[in-house]
Amino acid sequence: MAQLLDGKETAREIREELKTRCAVLKGKGVTPGLAVVLVGNDPASAIYVGQKEKACGDVGFSSFRYALPASATEKELLDLIGQLNADTRIHGILVQLPLPKGLSVDRVIGRIDPGKDVDGFHPLNAGRLACGLPGIVPCTPKGVMRILERYAIPLEGRNAVVVGRSNIVGKPMAHLLLGANMTVTICHSRTPDLGAETRRADLIIVAAGRPGIVDGSMVKEGAVVVDVGIHRTAEGIVGDVKFEDVAEKASWITPVPGGVGPLTIAMLLENTLELAERAGRKE
Ligand code: NAD
Repeated sequence: MAQLLDGKETAREIREELKTRCAVLKGKGVTPGLAVVLVGNDPASAIYVGQKEKACGDVGFSSFRYALPASATEKELLDLIGQLNADTRIHGILVQLPLPKGLSVDRVIGRIDPGKDVDGFHPLNAGRLACGLPGIVPCTPKGVMRILERYAIPLEGRNAVVVGRSNIVGKPMAHLLLGANMTVTICHSRTPDLGAETRRADLIIVAAGRPGIVDGSMVKEGAVVVDVGIHRTAEGIVGDVKFEDVAEKASWITPVPGGVGPLTIAMLLENTLELAERAGRKE
C-alpha cells in the first residue's frame, strides 16, 4: 500500500518559511504585491482567485484584484497589463486562465513584463527553463519537484513518464525532471498505448485533465505517482488517477485533494516573493 505524499503539510511548511522571508523584506520597506486578473465569470476561476488572494493575505503579501467582464476586449486587457507592468506596488502579475473565447492567451501572456511573470508562462521564462537557466518556474511543476524533494524520492537515472504536454504543466514538468537527470517520456492525447509507457516508469506525473485515466494496471509495482488533475464531481474533488486502485501498486502517491493543489498555491507565493526580493535589490 502506497504512502502519502502530503501536499497540504508540505505547503504549510513552505508558507511558514515565506512568512519569515516576507517579514525581512517588509523591514526593508518592500511588501510583496500580487496582481490577479480575472476576466469573465467562470465559477472555478473565481474560486481559484479567491484562494490565491487569501493565501497572499495569510503570509503578509498585498494582493490586488482586477476583474474584467467577459465582454472585455483584448485591447482593454492588454492595456490593463501595461498599467500593472508599470505599477511599483506590484511584483507579480497573474492572469487567471482560461480566458473567454476571442482573447489570445499568447498575446496576453506575452504582454506581461517577464520580470513580473509570476506564473512563468512568458516565452522568455519558458525558454530559460528549457535552456536550464535560472528564472521563474511555473507553480504546479515547481510544487511537484518540491514535494519529491521533501520525501527524498530518488530521481537521477530513473524513468519518468509525464502524461500531458500543456505549456503550464506537462512541458515545464518534463524540463524540470530532465534537469534532475531523469530519463523523461512525455505522453499526450495521440500516444497510442498510454499503459505501455506508464508501466515502464519509476515516476508517473499525470496532468491530462481526464478523471481516472491512470488505473492500477498501468502502474509498475513500487512506482511513485503524482496526480495533478482536479475535477469537481458530485462525489467531491477527484484527480486523473484512480486513487484506491493505484495506491495498491505505488510506493508513494499524492492524494486529491491535499496533494499538488496546495503546493501550486505555495509556489505562487514563493514566486511572488522571489520577484519582490529581486525588485527590492534593484531599488
Ligand atoms: P490541458 O487540457 O491544457 O492539457 C492536457 C494534456 O493532456 C494535453 O497535453 C493532452 O494531450 C493530454 N491528454 C489528454 N487526453 C489524454 C490521453 N487520453 N492520454 C494521454 N494524454 C492525454 O490541461 P492542463 O492545464 O495541463 O491541466 C491538466 C490537469 O491538471 C487538469 O485536470 C487541471 O485542472 C489540472 N491542474 C491542476 C493544478 C493544480 O494545482 N493541482 C494546476 C494546473 C492544472
